[in-house]
Amino acid sequence: AKEMGKNNCQFYAQEMNAALEEKLALMEGLRRAVDDNQLRLLYQPKVDLASGQVFGVEALLRWQHPERGTVRPDLFIPLAEESGMIVAIGEWVLREACLQARRWQDAGLPPISMSVNVSPRQFDDPHLVRRVAAALAEAALDAQWLELEVTESLIMRDVQQAIDKMRELETMSIALSIDDFGTGYSSLAALKSFPISRLKIDKSFVRDLAHSTDDQAIARAIISLSHQLQMRVIAEGVETEQQRDFLVENGCDEMQGYLFSKPVPPDDIAAMLARPSEV
Ligand code: C2E
Ligand code: CA
Ligand code: CA
Ligand code: CA
Repeated sequence: AKEMGKNNCQFYAQEMNAALEEKLALMEGLRRAVDDNQLRLLYQPKVDLASGQVFGVEALLRWQHPERGTVRPDLFIPLAEESGMIVAIGEWVLREACLQARRWQDAGLPPISMSVNVSPRQFDDPHLVRRVAAALAEAALDAQWLELEVTESLIMRDVQQAIDKMRELETMSIALSIDDFGTGYSSLAALKSFPISRLKIDKSFVRDLAHSTDDQAIARAIISLSHQLQMRVIAEGVETEQQRDFLVENGCDEMQGYLFSKPVPPDDIAAMLARPSEV
């Protein structure tokens, strides 16, 4: 038994080494990704449930790795956070998203809102507000078309600092939404102090909406809370008509999900905006 324990230890040590090496290799590659043009953005439409129209998109990052193919953000965003590279990557995302919004407007398409995910470390960057302003100026994009998606965890770490920064962004007319709402620990009391315009119901509550009475209760509660606090509410991860019908019946304002469209390249969004009646 003693021998086996030792072997197990060696086995785990090797596994851990492999995982660590993998992580270091990815981090090393990520360092070059921005400069070598390996990052790109896909855009997922956000649909207004009342009109059925696309009113905005969320920018979602993809890494075109030279050997591994497309690496999903769940794999590399945490590494970028940990290493601090998220600040440079996030700045690239902000600039590219604003420039894309500008390209669509220049093509004569109806202006839509552009949502960009901001991770906690990026939000903590003392230059965030300046970087956002610079990205808007570079693209000659009006601030009303930009929305930042932040998570509850970010807010609850330093409530006063978060309020101050959000007020600054609010003064610039930049909308803020809370992503993955309900999965973190935001204090409902704190929520009313934040200049938030939208709550996003996390897809974990949407997935079993047709069958789970618990999830139905949670979704209803978030919709009601949003409206009582004068915010709009969007559901993410909507994949089925049953989910959509439940959300419509319960007064949800907007939705996003594969039922409508997966995240797509810019030209696909342009095509959708060019013929809104077919939506
Ligand atoms: P998120 O912000 O919660 O984004 C929603 C995720 O759900 C996206 O995954 C999207 O592709 C996926 N999704 C959309 N519709 C559906 C659906 O109907 N069903 C299901 N099952 N999934 C759906 P993605 O693109 O892999 O992004 C994962 C996460 O990576 C994002 O979660 C966000 O936290 C982070 N992320 C993505 N892009 C950026 C970025 O530019 N900056 C930062 N800081 N984080 C990003
Ligand atoms: Ca998001
Ligand atoms: Ca989300
Ligand atoms: Ca998420």
